[in-house]
Amino acid sequence: MAKYDVVVIGSGPGGYVAALRAAQLGKKACVVERDALGGVCLNRGCIPTKALAHAAEVCTLARHGERLGIQVGEVSVDFAKVQANKDAVVNKLTSGVGFLLKRAKVDVVMGTARLAERGKVAVALNGGGEEALEADKIIIATGSEPARPKAISFDGPRVMTSDEALKLETLPASVFILGGGYIGCEFASIFAQLGSQVTVVEMLDGLLPLLDADVGSEITRALKKMKVKVHVGTKMESLEAGEGGVTARLSGGKSVEAEIALVCVGRRLLSEELGLDEVGVAVENGAIRVDEHCETTVPGIYAIGDVTGKVMLAHVASAQGIVAAEHAAGQEARIDYRCVPAAVFTSPEVGMVGQTEAEAGEGARAAKFPLQGLGRAVAMGETGGFVKIVADSETREVLGVHIVGPHASDVIAEGAIAMALEATVGELAWSVHAHPTLPEGIMEAARVWLGHGIHA
Ligand code: FAD
Repeated sequence: MAKYDVVVIGSGPGGYVAALRAAQLGKKACVVERDALGGVCLNRGCIPTKALAHAAEVCTLARHGERLGIQVGEVSVDFAKVQANKDAVVNKLTSGVGFLLKRAKVDVVMGTARLAERGKVAVALNGGGEEALEADKIIIATGSEPARPKAISFDGPRVMTSDEALKLETLPASVFILGGGYIGCEFASIFAQLGSQVTVVEMLDGLLPLLDADVGSEITRALKKMKVKVHVGTKMESLEAGEGGVTARLSGGKSVEAEIALVCVGRRLLSEELGLDEVGVAVENGAIRVDEHCETTVPGIYAIGDVTGKVMLAHVASAQGIVAAEHAAGQEARIDYRCVPAAVFTSPEVGMVGQTEAEAGEGARAAKFPLQGLGRAVAMGETGGFVKIVADSETREVLGVHIVGPHASDVIAEGAIAMALEATVGELAWSVHAHPTLPEGIMEAARVWLGHGIHA
């Protein structure tokens, strides 16, 4: 039986990073993967959607080029090429993961793993047969898959989740999207810019309901500008698929017809079928319970990434992977989720970190700087959006930063670092920013918070 210091189950951004860190620390590590190296993030999540979002953005820029004096003629979309480019990006990055693991001398076993007993992992190999691995420490990084509600029939080619949407061979003329969370909004923005007629239905009162309310309103405005039809506070009562397309019946008596339906109503955590019960690992509502070291209720068995149900984002999975590998190697590593940034790759983008205005409550105050006052945003012709800072009314410590605007996913890094360093709005306002740049918006918002905004 092969013997390892660390066996990692799953090779997503949690698992492969954990294995690399374990190897850096001198541990003999192995990763078991049943599908493709890189997990959801590289194959069916972050990376392919961002390749499509970039194509969609180029399409929009080309359409609006004339305003800047750039003539490109009629813009048309070759969707097969858009998909081929996305696949090339995915292949490049997944083979990069393979290279990194090989270079670090991490063994890769392709198959489905389960915990046989404490210290043992049984793998049903993809090519047939079984392999048993002995592991001093085990890190579970099995991730999640799209939720497929029982009330919806996914038989046939017209009703799909994000997994299948990423494999479409032709651009649908119309798309009905169920769910206005970040995945639904990103697909709405992509399809609408590429030329599909899009309808989004969200049961709660606004799009992106978990984010600051102002963010949801701004993104709703932006999507409507792209001619996306948005129905919030609306339930889907039935979905029927026929030869020619789908019909969704909505609460309030409305109905929507479209070529395809894309169901984006959450993710199912992959904690079943791992044999967790038998070894005594506690699971709550599908999420593996972990402490600040990412250790489960069984010492020596760790869990990271989506399957812990903490913050279901790739960079959190990777950060947890590093913490788990270091703790498994005897180091005092722990994770703090308070300053984790998140981004939504709509057009314009969203970047956020920390508490929303509503979460911060009475002891805090918020201030907003609209991008119309920002030179760089004006030069780019992208003034829809804002920077909003939430800070403690007394101590002035920054509690949250919320941005809608171009490159918000990049600009939010400043907010995240400010929060990690427990910066105050004063420190943000008085740190000199290069001009003309988008992060100046953070400095301006901090000045507005202090009551002496310059360009607001
Ligand atoms: P995963 O990436 O889910 O990987 C788990 C791996 O484990 C899979 O490869 C799976 O095959 C394997 N596995 C499962 N069970 C077993 C088993 N028993 N044996 C062996 N192998 C097994 N996050 C961001 O931060 N930014 C984004 O822009 C972003 N965009 C997204 C867009 C979409 C459409 C989706 C669906 C997700 C997006 N995410 C994004 C979320 C991100 O993809 C996940 O948070 C991240 O992939 C979680 O990483 P993970 O390591 O926990 O697991």
